[in-house]
Amino acid sequence: MNPIYLDHAATTPLATEVLEAMLPYFTEFYGNPSSLHGFGQVAKDGIERARQTIANALHAREDEIVFTGSGTESDNTVIKGTAHALAAKGDHIITSGIEHHAIHEPLHFLEKQGLKVTYLPVDANGLVDPDEVKKAITDKTILVSIMHANNEIGTIEPIAEIGRIAHENGVLFHTDAVQTFGHIPIDVNAMNIDFLSASAHKLYGPKGVGLLYVRKGARLTPLLHGGDQEKRRRASTQNVPAIVGFGRAVELAAAEMESEAARQTVLRDRLIQGLLAAIPHSRLNGHPSSRLPNNVNISIAYIEGEAMLLNLDMEGIAASTGSACTSSSLEPSHCLTAIGLPHELAHGSLRFTLGRGTTREQIDSVIAVLPGIVKKLRAMSPLSRKIAQ
Ligand code: PLP
Repeated sequence: MNPIYLDHAATTPLATEVLEAMLPYFTEFYGNPSSLHGFGQVAKDGIERARQTIANALHAREDEIVFTGSGTESDNTVIKGTAHALAAKGDHIITSGIEHHAIHEPLHFLEKQGLKVTYLPVDANGLVDPDEVKKAITDKTILVSIMHANNEIGTIEPIAEIGRIAHENGVLFHTDAVQTFGHIPIDVNAMNIDFLSASAHKLYGPKGVGLLYVRKGARLTPLLHGGDQEKRRRASTQNVPAIVGFGRAVELAAAEMESEAARQTVLRDRLIQGLLAAIPHSRLNGHPSSRLPNNVNISIAYIEGEAMLLNLDMEGIAASTGSACTSSSLEPSHCLTAIGLPHELAHGSLRFTLGRGTTREQIDSVIAVLPGIVKKLRAMSPLSRKIAQ
């Protein structure tokens, strides 16, 4: 059987068109974009065309787009950069309990230095309540950071509403859009966004390039100091081929966004319904409708996610677990515990994320294969005796 890749939230394959757009910038147009000679200017033109494409896709201005090295870097820049730039105004940031580690870890780092952070709870579907944001704002709040959609359970947050509340209270609003940019529409003005993070490798672009949208006038201390690149908001020579590839990836994504989201939603729902019907004691995690078109996250009681993952891998199916971290710690995912899953269910979770190459036949293969794996593992599991009770 040909391998089936259902881990597009982790990363996507590079599109051929993206590779083609990038190649000349390695060998032919290799100038430093800050150089004034022709070699430099060709490289600079490549960057500026990508900036224009990306600004258009976000309904932003070109000078509001800063290229970074990753989604993680963009998130770190916003958290550390606003905490520093706005220290005289306040020392309080509001976020949710289900953000990516790229948000939580810089916050934990700053908490050790005195920053105060409110981690808002989410409901059983993973939604942040905008009223809770309102209640948490104090006169010391400098930033609200709530992700556009969650990377594990796929829930799409009401960010336009949250941004509106932040603005009504004179507070800046950041959203981590790493899982949504290129997949569902974003309008930084209509959605009241001041800062936005995204990453090329989640939309068929190269790894190691991200972007930070910074609304004109919004204050932010850079993470990297050095040269004048990116209007002094991110020093270091730009990764020209990667930025050109990012631009091309956004062009392709914009052209097919609507049709691909509709296609994937049908396959997503087929997979959800097929698995829940075939596997007793299973449940869907995340919001049933306010959900990324490509995300399926299910919990299967009485067995470990890792065991299912390895068995699927042996069948040529690549998924991911929402349960254990990559670290040696066996703590279950903070997102799954935040939506109220008991530890044993959180440990038995699987995430399938669909992509451009996903077909109905592939989805049907998973529906055919996984129930058998579950049955086999449950037969070996002491926990499964509970099923009979
Ligand atoms: N934020 C979210 C929601 C993500 O899903 C990821 C990656 O999985 C990141 C941030 C980090 O992005 P990058 O891999 O570009 O550092």
